[in-house]
Amino acid sequence: MIPAKTIDDILSAARVEEVIEDFVTLKRRGVNMMGLCPFHDEKTPSFTVSPAKGIYKCFGCGKSGTSVGFIMEHEHLSYPEALKYLANKYNITVEEKEVSPEDRAVMQLTDALYIVNNFAAEHFTKNLLETDEGKAVGLSYFKERGFRQHTLDQWQLGFAMSSGKAFTSLALEKQYNMEHLQKLGLSTQYESDFFKSRVIFPIHNLSGKIVAFAGRMLSKDKNQPKYLNSPESEIYNKRKILYGFYFAKTAIRKADECIVVEGYTDVLTLYQGGVENVVASSGTSFTVDQIRLIKRFTDNIKIIYDGDPAGIKAALRGLDLVLAENMDVRLVLLPKDEDPDSFFKKSGQDAFTKYLDENAKDFIDFKTTLLLAEAGNDPIKRSHVLRDIVSSIALIPDAIKRAMYVKQTSSKMEIEEAILIAEVEKDLPEIKKGTATTIS
Ligand SMILES: [Zn+2]
Repeated sequence: MIPAKTIDDILSAARVEEVIEDFVTLKRRGVNMMGLCPFHDEKTPSFTVSPAKGIYKCFGCGKSGTSVGFIMEHEHLSYPEALKYLANKYNITVEEKEVSPEDRAVMQLTDALYIVNNFAAEHFTKNLLETDEGKAVGLSYFKERGFRQHTLDQWQLGFAMSSGKAFTSLALEKQYNMEHLQKLGLSTQYESDFFKSRVIFPIHNLSGKIVAFAGRMLSKDKNQPKYLNSPESEIYNKRKILYGFYFAKTAIRKADECIVVEGYTDVLTLYQGGVENVVASSGTSFTVDQIRLIKRFTDNIKIIYDGDPAGIKAALRGLDLVLAENMDVRLVLLPKDEDPDSFFKKSGQDAFTKYLDENAKDFIDFKTTLLLAEAGNDPIKRSHVLRDIVSSIALIPDAIKRAMYVKQTSSKMEIEEAILIAEVEKDLPEIKKGTATTIS
């Protein structure tokens, strides 16, 4: 905990214009300073900083706040993290004081949960590598997928035995707390194992700690889901976690691009094959929180889809919001009946990367192509597609980009541009009305 006195010191030292000028070029205008907003795309400055009031406000996107708020928003930091960032900038020493009993309890709980997950991961690994059942079922599955020992070790892959009690009994014997085991979903309310007869993929957070597990069933039991995921807990919010991000983040920065696939084994195959800037959404369809996580490392996302159009359509729903995040998102559809795993193995790294580059489409183009293929020549269906695309275009913050998409969609759907512009205009938020201009 940062003492209140230190917080005061930081807040009074951190002049809003100085903090922001590290990221935005500001020009004096009367008592205020103006610059191009870092939170939305703009060509003329509407981002205003008031040194006198100690605040910033953007008249384009409405974002506003103090110096700490700016750092939180811009650097995606929590409040204490932002304070520490500013303390560092102004050479203020932060001596963290004794934490309150409540805070300590929370910290102790999360620490304890990490320890339990570590124990579980070690147990699953041991099962995989040292037991007859693990070797015969789990290890042979991983070997069949082509995963080398180094990959198994690095990603801490494991196996959950079929007996149904093995893990929980051992954990209790080792004095682990039943409440913690249940909170993490490792043990059921009946004190038996949650994961049974499955290969195990630990899910790491950004700092490499195990926050959850995914278990893949290997038998063909129709009554069981193919994948089981740990429930959410104090340390696991599935909407904010991407499988593989911890291992991929350096490569994502370097490549200035993040590749997103659907499956755990897709991530492992690509990573092992040298495409290391790859992640998967774990147990959910891709969320805006996950996009924001990626945004801390790169603005470029390439999402790979496989499977049937209906499934992809469902996955695209909600992804509309990426348009509002102003990131360069491209989507790639793999050839029929291929998934990233199979396609990568068949084509090799170079041909795989080449295919992605040649077939990546922007979100609007991808969505239009997909929906039109489904609608065929049915005029009513085509008008639904048009509505859908129009509402997506209206989400794009940048007027010029919107105009480009209107043009592109107009030619693709054979609809007059003027009609499209009028439709997009209707869907725009109040603040942007009158900006759905055409470009010729
Ligand atoms: Zn703005």
